[in-house]
Amino acid sequence: MDVSAQIEAVYDTLRRRNPGEAEFHQAAHEVLHAIGPVLKAHPEYADARIVERLCEPERQLMFRVPWVDDQGTVQVNRGFRVEFNSALGPYKGGLRFHPSVNLGIVKFLGFEQIFKNALTGLSIGGGKGGSDFDPKGRSEAEVMRFCQSFMTELYRHLGEHTDVPAGDIGVGGREIGYLFGQYKRITNRFEAGVLTGKPVGWGGSHARTEATGYGTVFFAQEMLATRGQDFDGRRVVVSGSGNVAVYAIEKVHALGGLVVACSDSSGYLVDENGIDLALLKEIKEVRRARLSAYAEAKPTARFSDRGSVFDVPCEIALPCATQNELHQQDAGALVKNGVLAVAEGANMPCTPEAVEVFRGARVLFGPGKAANAGGVATSALEMQQNASRDRWTFERTEDQLAGIMRQVHAQCRASAEIYGGDAEDYVLGANTAGFRHVADAMMAQG
Ligand code: GLU
Repeated sequence: MDVSAQIEAVYDTLRRRNPGEAEFHQAAHEVLHAIGPVLKAHPEYADARIVERLCEPERQLMFRVPWVDDQGTVQVNRGFRVEFNSALGPYKGGLRFHPSVNLGIVKFLGFEQIFKNALTGLSIGGGKGGSDFDPKGRSEAEVMRFCQSFMTELYRHLGEHTDVPAGDIGVGGREIGYLFGQYKRITNRFEAGVLTGKPVGWGGSHARTEATGYGTVFFAQEMLATRGQDFDGRRVVVSGSGNVAVYAIEKVHALGGLVVACSDSSGYLVDENGIDLALLKEIKEVRRARLSAYAEAKPTARFSDRGSVFDVPCEIALPCATQNELHQQDAGALVKNGVLAVAEGANMPCTPEAVEVFRGARVLFGPGKAANAGGVATSALEMQQNASRDRWTFERTEDQLAGIMRQVHAQCRASAEIYGGDAEDYVLGANTAGFRHVADAMMAQG
C-alpha cells in the first residue's frame, strides 16, 4: 500500500473507532497529513504499525466524581484521564475543568501533548485529563470538595514515574494545591513530582505560572527574527485573558510591543494605550469577573460583545483562549490588516481553514504543539527540581525555558526543511520532528 493510502486507512479506522469525537479527528488529521514524507523515508514505521499504535491511547480512564455543594445537594460529574503514550517518559499533561470537557476533547488534547512533549526534548510522555465540572460561580469550599473527590479516584493511577498531571483551563495553583493535598493524605507520601504547577512555596517551580505565555512569545520572537523583525513597537492582539494570555501580554510589553486587545467568553476589549495588566489580573484572578469590568474601570477602553477580537488590526496575533476560536474569516481579517506572525498559545485555537489562509499568505504561523510547549517544558523542569530536592531561581528557570523554545523552533525549521524543503512550514516541521522522536522510541522499545 502506498503511503497516502496507508494514512487514509488509519484515519478512516480512527474515525470509525471514535465516533463523535470531532476535535480528536481534527488533531489526528493534522498530524497524519503532515507525516507522509517521514513514512516514505522510513518504511520500518509502517511494518511496526507505529501510526496505528500512536492513534490508540495506551489507557483511557473515565470515572464518577460525586461531591456535595454548599446547599448540601449531591452533584455528580464525570472525570477523565487519557494516558496516551509513555514512550518518552511518564504520561504528562494538564487537567481541564470546563463544562465542554468530554472524552473527544481530552483525547485531542492528549494526542497533541504527545508531540508537544516530544519537541521539548525532555523525558515526558503524553496524557491529558479533566472533568465537565464548571468552576465558574463555585465557592472555594465547593472547588476544594470537588478536587478532593476527583483525586480520591485518580490517585491510584498517578505517580512521579507513572503519570504527572498539571493545570489547564479551569485548573490553576489553587486546584493543584487541593489535588496534591488529597493525594498526600491518601498515600501518606509527600511525592512532590506527582503534580506540577504547584505553588512556589511548597515544591512549585519559579516561572511555571508564566511559562506558557512567555514561551509563546519567545517562539514568536524566534519566528520574527528569521525575517529580521522583532516585537519592538508592534501592535499585538492576544485572545483570552486567562493564565496563558496574561503572561503572554506581560512578555510582549517587556519586549517593547503593545497589546491593544484581549478577550474572554463574553466578548473582547480594546485599549489603545496597551492592556493594563495590573487591572486585568485584578479583574480576572482576584475578582474572577468578566472583562467588561475593565472598561467600566477605565473609560478609555472599549468592550464589545459582538464581532471578534481578531478584527482589531495588529501585526502579531497570539490566540491564547481555546480550541477552534480563530476561524477562516478571522484569518482573512488578520491577513487583510497586515499580520506578520501568528503563534498559538492555546491548544489548536486556529481551525484548519484558518491555518490554510495563513499558509497561503505566507504569514509566519507557529502551531500550538510547538509555540505553547513552554508550559509543559517548565513542568518538566519542576519535576527535575523535585527529583533533586533543589530549587532554581526565577532567572535560571526562565533562561532554560528560553533555551528550550529556541531549540523547539530550530527543530521545527530543520525538520520542515528535510521533509518539505520549506523551513517556514512550521506545521510540517513540528509534526514531523515530534513524530520522529516518539516513533523512534516506540521502535526501540518494541
Ligand atoms: N496544559 C498545559 C499544556 O497544554 C501544560 C501541561 C503540563 O504542564 O503538564 O501543555
